[in-house]
Amino acid sequence: MNSTPSNKRLKKLIKDLSLSMVNEIVEESIVQAEKENRGYDEFLCELFEAEVVNRKNNRVQRFLRESKIPLEKSLQTFDMERLSLPLKRVVNSLIDGGFLSRKENVLAFGKPGSGKTHLLCAIAQELIYLGHRIYFTTGTALVEMLLKAKKELKLDNALKKFSKYDAIIIDDIGYVKYNREEMEVLFTLLSQRYERGSIMLTSNLPFSKWEDIFKDSMTTAAAIDRLVHHSVIIELNLNSYRMEVAQKRKNDVKNEVK
Ligand code: ADP
Ligand code: MG
Repeated sequence: MNSTPSNKRLKKLIKDLSLSMVNEIVEESIVQAEKENRGYDEFLCELFEAEVVNRKNNRVQRFLRESKIPLEKSLQTFDMERLSLPLKRVVNSLIDGGFLSRKENVLAFGKPGSGKTHLLCAIAQELIYLGHRIYFTTGTALVEMLLKAKKELKLDNALKKFSKYDAIIIDDIGYVKYNREEMEVLFTLLSQRYERGSIMLTSNLPFSKWEDIFKDSMTTAAAIDRLVHHSVIIELNLNSYRMEVAQKRKNDVKNEVK
């Protein structure tokens, strides 16, 4: 841009308004618009559109970082062919994000290695691309964090922090046995989220074994009731993905040797 007083003023205004993308492209856009004899409205649309797109992208990147989701577990790296047709349909319907606005939960069950964590992380990343906010944690880390907050008399604050997320992924709930205090903070979180925000969880334990997590049968029933009331259940009746890949590799080598 040449340095006439009006150009200098323009540069300063763009800076004051923090229009970082406009700042990057304005000079080139002016030259181009003059060359192509474009109208003022078209020119302005182009500039502001570029700013809006850039801001959306930056927000998605920020949400992906804050989500703590292992980003390699994406839909691109997930082999959907392992899923049955009805399950593929369920996954496709979850990706539109409707369940988040309905505050429904997604509960994924299956043997270790069947792909529960990968699948929920993949769905969650797609939803973040749509502009939603999701937080990933493990059952163990969550309980530890809540218990620490409780000891510091900050449990309310800790619970409130989750309210900004459309969904919380609790990976491997019940992987370790919780003591009563640990179980109680977990139950408090589940109750607090009930009908207010989604929970996406994975578990190797079927509901019939959840008394191991929540100790007494009343609390177990109450926890399951809250989770299941509005929920989508995913049963991954699959063998371990890694074992299958390893087995296939072994067979391939055998065939090559023959
Ligand atoms: P789970 O949570 O059920 O124990 P994971 O999601 O951790 O299983 O999957 C175990 C490993 O196998 C991970 O490395 C994961 O990326 C991979 N995996 C599982 N299912 C698939 C799949 N359908 N496509 C690609 N990789 C998969
Ligand atoms: Mg897992």
